[in-house]
Amino acid sequence: MTIRRYYDDAYCTSFDATLLAVTEVQGQPALVLDATYFYLTSGGQPHDLGTLGGCAVTDVIAQDGQILHVLAAGESAPPLGPVHGVIDWPRRFDHMQQHSGQHLLSQVFVRETGCETVSVHFGAQESTLDLECATLSAAQLARVEQVANDLVAAALPITATLVDEAALATLPLRRPPAVRGQIRIVEIQAFDYSACGGTHVRNTAEIGPIKLLRQERRRGQTRVSFLCGKRAIADYMRKHELLVQAAAHYSTDVEQVPDLMGRAVEQIKAYQRQVEELTTQLLRYEAAELLAAAQPLGDWRVVVRCWDDRPADTLKTLATLLQAAPGTIALLATTAGDKTTLVFARSADVDRHMGNLLRATLQAFGGGGGGRPELAQGGGIPPAQAAAALDHARAGLG
Ligand SMILES: [Zn+2]
Repeated sequence: MTIRRYYDDAYCTSFDATLLAVTEVQGQPALVLDATYFYLTSGGQPHDLGTLGGCAVTDVIAQDGQILHVLAAGESAPPLGPVHGVIDWPRRFDHMQQHSGQHLLSQVFVRETGCETVSVHFGAQESTLDLECATLSAAQLARVEQVANDLVAAALPITATLVDEAALATLPLRRPPAVRGQIRIVEIQAFDYSACGGTHVRNTAEIGPIKLLRQERRRGQTRVSFLCGKRAIADYMRKHELLVQAAAHYSTDVEQVPDLMGRAVEQIKAYQRQVEELTTQLLRYEAAELLAAAQPLGDWRVVVRCWDDRPADTLKTLATLLQAAPGTIALLATTAGDKTTLVFARSADVDRHMGNLLRATLQAFGGGGGGRPELAQGGGIPPAQAAAALDHARAGLG
């Protein structure tokens, strides 16, 4: 059994131990020590990184009571015997801040909202608490965040002790422990008692700022994302910078940004409506010109036109306007963006099937499409053949 020294001292970053054996994990060398300060992934907290005998440790896992320190593939293990270990302290301390912050938050959620934590996850960017309760109000979340940060300022000591089952029964644990026998209890002085094997900061002040990010419903539970310590500070710095940039765009101060953005969005919507109306008006004029220049076909007239720069949507609107005029057939094409789109349309009083005409036309040129008797759309032919396809369709009308 590797002795887990991090239980007693989470702040030790450099240590001497004895390398007892070297094994392998998926082709990578793995070192077994008599004792270690390397934390292994457990209880949701990610493993430590660092070096052993100068070799980079990439993973730390438990196997048959031993702790395996996995080295990068291709690394050669140091010789058996004395070995020096160094823990990646910024990474470890970050995990300690997130983990202690989680214990504190879980207890604050119970006291302020009655919501129990059912599971936790410590991610590389954000950490999450899954709460057994319905969606929380913004006011509840704000209250939890404020109380948690007040407790950070109070610098409550955080200690870990091993207790037996009899002593355990006297403690107000948030959740019953999953293991039996001697249990390690992490206590935030007189505030929270949790069965936990993780590494924790000395007092709540070292957690640093606590920021709740958002909540989301997941399988009947509420997942709250949060940041602690340096992560919260980095998040504040980044978001402050983003707000300052946004304010600079509006030549205003950050307080005005949400209002101005809201107004800008409304203005864009109004402009979009105006553009749509004006575009339709212009297309009406254009449809009238096209009708005036249409080719006669018995009692009907045929509009044949190919553009190289019009969106397919505009073509469809034009076709709709043209088919509103009695006795009209419209054979339209666009090759905008190197993509050919054909739209065929006819008035209600014209006895020709546009869907069939389009299908036959495109088949002749290697494309595909079809549609209803009065309106059809298709493509898939080379842009260079669009005009020829329209001529082919026009000839098909007789
Ligand atoms: Zn814990």
